[in-house]
Amino acid sequence: MTQSSNPLDKFYNEKFPKQYQEAPAVQAKMEPVPDCGEESYVGSGKLTGKKALVTGGDSGIGRAAAIAYAREGADVALNYLAEEQQDAEEVKALIEAEGRNAVLIPGDLSDEAFCAELVERANAELGGIDILALVAGKQQAVEDILDLSTEQLRKTFEINVFSLFWVVKAALPLLKEGASIITTSSVQGYNPSENLLDYASTKFAINGFTRGLAKQVAKKGIRVNSVAPGPIWTPLQISGGQPSENIPEFGQETPLKRSGQPVELSNVYVFLASDDASYVTAQVYGVTGGIELA
Ligand code: NAD
Ligand code: MG
Repeated sequence: MTQSSNPLDKFYNEKFPKQYQEAPAVQAKMEPVPDCGEESYVGSGKLTGKKALVTGGDSGIGRAAAIAYAREGADVALNYLAEEQQDAEEVKALIEAEGRNAVLIPGDLSDEAFCAELVERANAELGGIDILALVAGKQQAVEDILDLSTEQLRKTFEINVFSLFWVVKAALPLLKEGASIITTSSVQGYNPSENLLDYASTKFAINGFTRGLAKQVAKKGIRVNSVAPGPIWTPLQISGGQPSENIPEFGQETPLKRSGQPVELSNVYVFLASDDASYVTAQVYGVTGGIELA
């Protein structure tokens, strides 16, 4: 079947069935199952011989990046939470089907000691790290700041922001010139929704971290960029990222009138990781369905 080239209907553009899972949700149980390029992504040797560590690599956008990296010729280590083992095993099988090495390293990024251990293990088991794709994130919608617990506020910042500092601190001494660090921002890092105060604040912080770090490590020959997705159909959204009543119309407010699928971000994560992006650093790339990053 030939896929439409019209962005309005190239991917699912109907209403989504209402659904909810406790976080972290399992992608395999979503309806429809997100498209992370399992069937469609075709590589062309853009990352041959490189080694990538992808956080949040079991599902959604991180999974799309992990699959694409393997198909471009990279070995990939995946981080995710223990509850997501089923999703991670599926990705491992897809990476191994490409003849690439897949290393599974479950663990909690809100733990500083684990962040260091993650980098150490990925480096040892892959035999180096060239690409750090930091995709993991926590998003829980809360309507009123008075109901936003300090526990949630702390966790969201630990996972979305602090872990970037912890992972990068552990990785920098190991990274060589030509390495690429990619963080994951959001349209929320530009135009915050009223019910995502904590999450949106972390995405503003990620934009600052990315651009500042890029300047700091440019002299080492290391590039740092971010990807800012718009509404993408992933487990994050159906596990409290949005109020359940918003799920059916999720993404339809964008100019392209549908949510994005994770595979629509694959090429951007590949480009930023690859040597093709040799003059690209300190940038935030939007893949938003037309929502402006301003
Ligand atoms: P996802 O649920 O597939 O991925 C998020 C991942 O974060 C999970 O798979 C999980 O492995 C990981 N994670 C969460 N807490 C963790 C912890 N304590 N320790 C280790 N890992 C943890 O959803 P996604 O939408 O693909 O999210 C990926 C990134 O994209 C996130 O940073 C998110 O903020 C960002 N993003 C998503 C959207 C969207 O609409 N889906 C929009 C903008 C930005
Ligand atoms: Mg997941």
